[in-house]
Amino acid sequence: MRRLLIAANWKMHLGRTDEALALVRRLRPPLGAVESVDVAICPPFTVLATLAEVLRNSRIGLGAQTMHWEDAGAHTGDVSPAMLDGLCDYVILGHSERREAAGPSSSDEAINRKVLAALGHGLTPIVCVGESAAQRDAGETHDFVGRQVGAALKGVGAEAAGRLVLAYEPIWAIGSGQPATPAEANRTIGLTVRGAVADGLGTAAAERVRILYGGSVKTENIAEFVRMPDIDGALVGGASLSPAFADLVKAAGTP
Ligand code: PEP
Repeated sequence: MRRLLIAANWKMHLGRTDEALALVRRLRPPLGAVESVDVAICPPFTVLATLAEVLRNSRIGLGAQTMHWEDAGAHTGDVSPAMLDGLCDYVILGHSERREAAGPSSSDEAINRKVLAALGHGLTPIVCVGESAAQRDAGETHDFVGRQVGAALKGVGAEAAGRLVLAYEPIWAIGSGQPATPAEANRTIGLTVRGAVADGLGTAAAERVRILYGGSVKTENIAEFVRMPDIDGALVGGASLSPAFADLVKAAGTP
């Protein structure tokens, strides 16, 4: 049985201490009451340490939005796995907004190094994959997304399956208000993403890996996604930035 995970990606929002604390203090009581769902908040780096204090001994996990693969070095502006080790639980890797903006440090090879480094430091990577609208229209989703998964997981052992999370986020659905249909997302997650995990790590491991859907998820549609057999939760951007995020998590946890 895979537990549901709802992860909030705050992106470049709520990075001031006062605003981050205000939201987390509102979210903590209602989120603490939803026992059937794991929850993680991934804020900007500026507030990670503060939120780590506030969320200590709570049911809410904490994640970073990216990291380098090396523990230290001449990498101005980067944050390393050693710095996140002990500070947070999760790290989002390969988000399409970073794959587009960050060039070589978000290549498939770089993401693979980051996945291995995260696992080595006891962090749970949330590895994002997903096709563009042009790739979808050209019928390339299966091959492209399958390749992204295979590349990200090179050298990862089957024993890591229980602490590995993938997120299928079609780029055309992110922030667009136009999510994939639950059936479409379930098919790609089951056949393509879980299929590629099975090719790399074996079928048993693939059954243990949690795979999220991301792209315009909101309170009104989350239940339809998590009802699907291969969808184990969601990575949520815009709808995670207000106290109403607690309603979304509750809706996910309501059978
Ligand atoms: C995201 O950026 O990971 C995301 C899914 O954003 P949104 O929920 O706003 O589409």
